[in-house]
Amino acid sequence: MIDLRRLAHPLVRAAREVRRRLEVGPITHETVPVRPSTETAGDGGFDGERAFGLLRAQCEMGPRAPGTDGHARTRQWMIEQLAPLVDGLVVQRWRQKIGRGPGAGQALEMTNVLALVHGAAGAAEQAPDVMLSAHWDTRPVADQDPDPARRALPVPGANDGASGVAVVLEAARALRARRPPRPVALALWDGEDLGEYYYGSRAYAAALRRGTVPWRPRRGVLLDMVGKRNLRCTTEMHSIRLAPRLWEQVLASADALGLGAHFGARRQAITDDHVFLNRAGIPTVLLIDYAYPQWHTTADTVDQCDASSLQVAGDVVLHLIHTSPP
Ligand SMILES: [Zn+2]
Repeated sequence: MIDLRRLAHPLVRAAREVRRRLEVGPITHETVPVRPSTETAGDGGFDGERAFGLLRAQCEMGPRAPGTDGHARTRQWMIEQLAPLVDGLVVQRWRQKIGRGPGAGQALEMTNVLALVHGAAGAAEQAPDVMLSAHWDTRPVADQDPDPARRALPVPGANDGASGVAVVLEAARALRARRPPRPVALALWDGEDLGEYYYGSRAYAAALRRGTVPWRPRRGVLLDMVGKRNLRCTTEMHSIRLAPRLWEQVLASADALGLGAHFGARRQAITDDHVFLNRAGIPTVLLIDYAYPQWHTTADTVDQCDASSLQVAGDVVLHLIHTSPP
């Protein structure tokens, strides 16, 4: 993501350029067979320790920038994680030309993974209410590393990437055990953190305009960098401007759970995938703790993260899904 306040002038211009619609070629949708597991999926609660294991598992596959082995392995792993838990699973693929920034000049295969969890009414109701989403790729270069010699290395992406995916996957398991009142969509975005950024959500928005996505959620919560110790979420100004009611509902859920102290960190407007979802007509808020010194460095590792932070994020989004009206 880009925090405009942190940026030097040329990058502010780059951030403005991502406002343009993505030039995107054919986007395919492939339905993956789901294999509902007969195993018991728990009591419906979110298990922060289990989510932390999912964060670690991603990091063990190596950096996950598009075009790498770790990226290909993680794509397959996410599909295998979701298939026994969800009621619908669709892989959205396209080929992405990278105009500038890390990866410039390449054309890379990208994949968003989309899933649906039925609500209490089962298959009778298909239109999802909330879409939980996160980016699953990691940045190919640690360009914020304090050591110049390490800036060409890839980011491990424990917090920036794996934490959000871990919450989405663990939420899928919890929602299977305790069905939500309305269907829930899940989305894992590719290509958030290279080139001109946010390719996954922009391709999804293009597919929405083309009418080819399998389901269209009413509103959304994007999770990014929710794994660091002592989580305190940024007061994210795009969310407040673009989805004010949903932002209030998130804060109300946090307060109801006694977790309000994990919110209310300083105000920042952070461009991330939620901006493009809002533009596509899906009011979406971003949960992020942007005060992370290891951001886009080689030190964004598992030991910077904590199960209790994933627990906070998971508890809040599940409370929102179970209690707040659309
Ligand atoms: Zn990033």
